[in-house]
Amino acid sequence: MRLDKFLAEAGIGTRSSVKILLKKGLVTVAGQVQKDGRFQVDKNSVEVCFDGNPLIYQEFYYYLLNKPQGVVSATKDNLFKTVVQLLDKKDFREDIFPVGRLDKNTEGLLILTNDGALGHDLTQPKKHVEKEYFARIDGKVTSEIIDKFATGLTLKNGEKVKPGELYSEKVYESDTQSGWMSEIRIVIHEGKFHQVKRMFEAVEMYVLYLKRIRMGNLKLDKNLKLGDYRVLTIEEIENIK
Ligand code: URA
Repeated sequence: MRLDKFLAEAGIGTRSSVKILLKKGLVTVAGQVQKDGRFQVDKNSVEVCFDGNPLIYQEFYYYLLNKPQGVVSATKDNLFKTVVQLLDKKDFREDIFPVGRLDKNTEGLLILTNDGALGHDLTQPKKHVEKEYFARIDGKVTSEIIDKFATGLTLKNGEKVKPGELYSEKVYESDTQSGWMSEIRIVIHEGKFHQVKRMFEAVEMYVLYLKRIRMGNLKLDKNLKLGDYRVLTIEEIENIK
């Protein structure tokens, strides 16, 4: 592969900023200064050093973020902080993006990566990657509501959704509008815009708090604080679906 591509993928900079660093003579390949970005290197066998430090070639990066409320699932935004801005300077790269979206006020599991193929694969409607959420609902989630979710609801705009598994964990009196609060878990098999909130609206109930706790086989770590993230292992990536 080209040396400039290697350097960019090792996180040294963009293809154009890498050109400048090469010109400065900061890059050596097998001990020799190399200034030409077109120089071909074997990513597995050649020793490339930047400023005297050996570089490890890595094309793809995967992170598991516990998204807090108030940040948007985007790479750029004029008004709000984005999820990629939660990455430390050392992990931030221009090409990292969130896999799918969580609403600004939704918390929980979000994958950040620069692997476009994985992103596409996990968000493709046909693939039906399960998503599980914990939520607090204004109202009493009864067995009738659970049955409605299990047979497949029609949203207020007439759109049909696939059956979802709804589990009521706790129902208690509260100072909500209805006077009741339900704590639930829900598993859905699609990723429509605002899907969970719209499913509850279809049965005249309102989501007060929403957190994604699982995507396929990948669970949100209990010890990952809001706003924190960790590297995902290759095994975890391969086993998501
Ligand atoms: N469903 C929603 O309504 N919001 C989310 O953020 C995710 C699923």
